[in-house]
Amino acid sequence: MIGTLPEEYLRTKQQIREFVQTDLEPYAEDVEVNNRIPEHILEKMKQRGLFGLTIPKAYGGGGMSKLEFCLVEQELSKTHFAFLDIISLNNGLGSKSIVLDGSEAMKRKYLPQLASGRLISAFALTEPNAGSDAAGITTSAVRQGDHFVLNGMKHFITNAPIADLFIVIAVTDPELRTRGGITAFVVEKGAPGLTIGHVHNTMGMRGAHKSEVIFKDTPVPVENVIGEVGKGFQVAMKTVDDGRMGVASTSLGMAERLLELSIGHAQRTMRNGKPLADSQAIQWMLADMGTEIYSAQAMIYATAAKIDRQEDAALEVAMCKLYASEMVGRVVDKAMEIFGRGGLRKGSTVERMCRDARILRIFEGTAEIHRVIIGRYLLKGKRTAYAAVEKQASGQGGRA
Ligand SMILES: Cc1cc2nc3c(=O)[nH]c(=O)nc-3n(C[C@H](O)[C@H](O)[C@H](O)COP(=O)(O)OP(=O)(O)OC[C@H]3O[C@@H](n4cnc5c(N)ncnc54)[C@H](O)[C@@H]3O)c2cc1C
Repeated sequence: MIGTLPEEYLRTKQQIREFVQTDLEPYAEDVEVNNRIPEHILEKMKQRGLFGLTIPKAYGGGGMSKLEFCLVEQELSKTHFAFLDIISLNNGLGSKSIVLDGSEAMKRKYLPQLASGRLISAFALTEPNAGSDAAGITTSAVRQGDHFVLNGMKHFITNAPIADLFIVIAVTDPELRTRGGITAFVVEKGAPGLTIGHVHNTMGMRGAHKSEVIFKDTPVPVENVIGEVGKGFQVAMKTVDDGRMGVASTSLGMAERLLELSIGHAQRTMRNGKPLADSQAIQWMLADMGTEIYSAQAMIYATAAKIDRQEDAALEVAMCKLYASEMVGRVVDKAMEIFGRGGLRKGSTVERMCRDARILRIFEGTAEIHRVIIGRYLLKGKRTAYAAVEKQASGQGGRA
């Protein structure tokens, strides 16, 4: 697969790898200990254009394809997760709905500032009683003249404590709900009645902030509706679908780093007068790690390329998210085993990644929800590109 990647993509991947090693990795421990990215590093990331890689060039971004951006995410995931987390919103959940469904005026107003990192964005869908069941949200938006009035609470919203811009999904018609009663809005920080509530302290992902966002009679101008009134659930689902490839690429990058660390450790560490790497038990673990990483990589690159060809890849995207996020869980477990006590040491990369990797199975749709999605697609006759080609060749039809 690597051989088929365009030269310019490989160059981008190499440049990001160097940036990670030279500018970010030296601060990984600092981020973990102080629970924040140092300001001068954030500035460097902005100067590198990292906040707008996927935003169209016409609006000041890098205009990257899905495949190229997956390679960037893969490399960025080899250091502290907070660096990727903060840029992933402006490049995905926090901008995609504006790119795909926003008005021209909205695009001109917000996208250049998101691309430069002058504005930091957040995507507010989840509520205390609506996570997997996103359709169960209760935050309401009631039209009053030339604006909507928002009331309700979102929680576990990434970037919320530092965000300037919120993409908010709210109910505009409780009867219709997902059939035309949910709407997406852009809400700016400082809007009356918008406050940041409790900041969540999670097991991993330090330096990446999540909190409640509370709306109390918050007025939002009608022109801040993204797409059409009543079509917000579709806007949100398209956005979340897009973000799932990010979780898959992150899982891949983390797993690669863990394999590299494990190989190094097994070769350097002497036990009973021999390197650990001489032990067949260790070799088998490395073999499983490498094989699973290769599978995830092949799936992710093929699916990203399919998205770039503008073909329907919903089934494969769900498979990538499910497989890669579970794969990194198995890889980190083996890395822990290979490092022995060293893997458990607080402050080690393996220990940090063990905590950070666990979330990848939960956000952007849990593993169970992904199995439900994949199962339904298969039962409806959807097939992966490879299975569809085989079916057609054998005269059984089928569709991708
Ligand atoms: C660190 C972090 C950052 C986040 N960032 C954001 C963000 O920026 N914006 C945002 O909107 N949200 C965000 N979230 C929320 C995230 O999207 C949800 O946590 C996720 O969708 C799962 O919902 P839940 O946690 O409410 O789990 P629940 O829905 O309560 O699920 C609990 C368990 O039940 C299972 N389950 C639920 N329903 C079904 C079903 N129908 N079939 C089978 N099993 C089921 C789930 O798989 C899971 O195992 C974030 C969460 C975390 C932890």
